[in-house]
Amino acid sequence: MYNQSEFGNLENYLLEKKYSENTSCEQIPDVHIFTGTVEYKKHRFKTVSLFLISIFDEKFLEIMSKIFVLLCITIALVTTINFLDNETLDWFYILGIMVSLVPLIISLCIQNVLEYHKDTFCRKCGNKLACEEIGEPVLKEKSNFGDYTLTVTRHWKCRCCGNVDTREGPENIFAEKGEILPAIYLKGIECKKCSLSGTVVEFQKPDIKEIGNKRITRRYYKCTLCGHENICESEETINSSAHACGL
Ligand SMILES: [Zn+2]
Ligand SMILES: [Zn+2]
Ligand SMILES: [Zn+2]
Repeated sequence: MYNQSEFGNLENYLLEKKYSENTSCEQIPDVHIFTGTVEYKKHRFKTVSLFLISIFDEKFLEIMSKIFVLLCITIALVTTINFLDNETLDWFYILGIMVSLVPLIISLCIQNVLEYHKDTFCRKCGNKLACEEIGEPVLKEKSNFGDYTLTVTRHWKCRCCGNVDTREGPENIFAEKGEILPAIYLKGIECKKCSLSGTVVEFQKPDIKEIGNKRITRRYYKCTLCGHENICESEETINSSAHACGL
């Protein structure tokens, strides 16, 4: 009997341990929500878009975009197979891969055109190239320990019927969680409230977003002594040549 109760205790202990491990993983999420504004949407290849949208319909452009992706894959595959089979020269291989990128770039351009079509198409009266952006676009950011999401809300007004459509989406804005700074970097940070240094920790991973040519990092600091939270944003300019292609 004595042994059994010992076992019972051990079992309880293990259960408790398991439970506490589980709960420490499922922390109550401290969600931070930020609301701000963004610029009006900028469309690339506007002249090409106007031209293509006025001639072709959406379906055709969608199919063309897919065909160009397939073409890219085909050229790349054929080049690679030839390279592996025969003793094709290196420069031929490089040339083949570069050529295969051309249809891919065309496909990406068509996808831009399709986006322009989607934005300017009025879902009420069915007119192409009818909507323009009005009002104030809103950027909403949601962040907790390991998750960071962005949503942009824009208003589109139809020139033909006057209908205003509100649309929400992530808009391919680059957003990710960064890494917490090594302890060495945090040593030098002083708490803005109690003025002590060496007591500040980062309590969640930083949020990183890229808007235009700006890379904005938001870090979450907390003083372990007084509990003061300090959310800091820093901005750096992205090298435009490295991001110009937007691939
Ligand atoms: Zn908080
Ligand atoms: Zn309309
Ligand atoms: Zn403090």
